[in-house]
Amino acid sequence: RRAEYASLKNLPSVTTDGERMTLMVNAGLAEDAAALHLAGADGIGLFRTEFQFLIAAQLPGRESQLRLYKQVLDAAGDKPVVFRTVDIGGDKALPYLTDEKDEAENPAMGWRALRLSLERTTLMKAQARALIEASKGRVLRVMFPMVSEPWEYEEARALFEEQLAWSKRAKKPVPKSIEFGAMLEVPSLAEMLDELLPRVDFLSIGTNDLTQFLFAADRADPRLAERYDWLSPAILRFLRRVVRQADAAGVPVRVCGEMGGRPLEAMALIGVGIGNFSITPAAVGPVKAMIRSLDAGAARARMEKLLAKPPRDMRKALHDWAKRHS
Ligand code: PEP
Ligand code: MG
Repeated sequence: RRAEYASLKNLPSVTTDGERMTLMVNAGLAEDAAALHLAGADGIGLFRTEFQFLIAAQLPGRESQLRLYKQVLDAAGDKPVVFRTVDIGGDKALPYLTDEKDEAENPAMGWRALRLSLERTTLMKAQARALIEASKGRVLRVMFPMVSEPWEYEEARALFEEQLAWSKRAKKPVPKSIEFGAMLEVPSLAEMLDELLPRVDFLSIGTNDLTQFLFAADRADPRLAERYDWLSPAILRFLRRVVRQADAAGVPVRVCGEMGGRPLEAMALIGVGIGNFSITPAAVGPVKAMIRSLDAGAARARMEKLLAKPPRDMRKALHDWAKRHS
């Protein structure tokens, strides 16, 4: 199969009925950037900027952030890179950032990601300045993790816009333009899409966190791993509703969680109307192979039927359908 996937490297992710899907990769280190070319991907759909913080002994300064972001953008060449602002705190606590170990009982639901960034604005401003300067003359694509309510997104975006204005006044390098996105990984945000959608350039669904919050099931607990399925009707209906609202508002929806990295799950995502995935580089071949043998229109029609009256075993139903159709 390896050889089969390798032979797909330079072929587009097009379905049998002619729909072009986008396959990007998740990355977090400068070295990962090269993987996108090796995998034959369309870009980096999630660059986890916190990796640099997690492996450092002290808070990375603006200069070292700038260096990393430039390296990543250079490695990506003309392919897009979506930078996510730091998702630290909670279980990814940094010794040099908080005085003591974070003893929160539920760190995943704790003081992390944007919640922390909006309070530690010095940190976020430094990151904004580094991203702005690194993207000189290009499009800067940035998204915020763990947005729970639209005002959090607005505050984060305003902070970036202030830094952009500052950079312009100081005659520093600035991007050609900035695209702002929100990660949808906290279910509460889905109830506020009417307010959020007019303000974002894209939505990126983090299915890892979304699943754990939707089901109240710790993503790190192996005892629950088999229990809550990405192919459950609850998740698929949730996603379909989000896609419908976003489509109506003309906002592109992407998935950057691991769900998109499995062929059957990716097929289900196409079934609910999503065609842009950011996945682990090793998954690009298998997912591309699936896409190239899939009739997207038929998958959507099938999904519509299945979600109207969900079978007890959605995974089996989708698996059986996939077997018959490709
Ligand atoms: C997610 O939650 O799905 C996601 C992409 O973010 P992370 O895995 O880094 O929390
Ligand atoms: Mg997440």
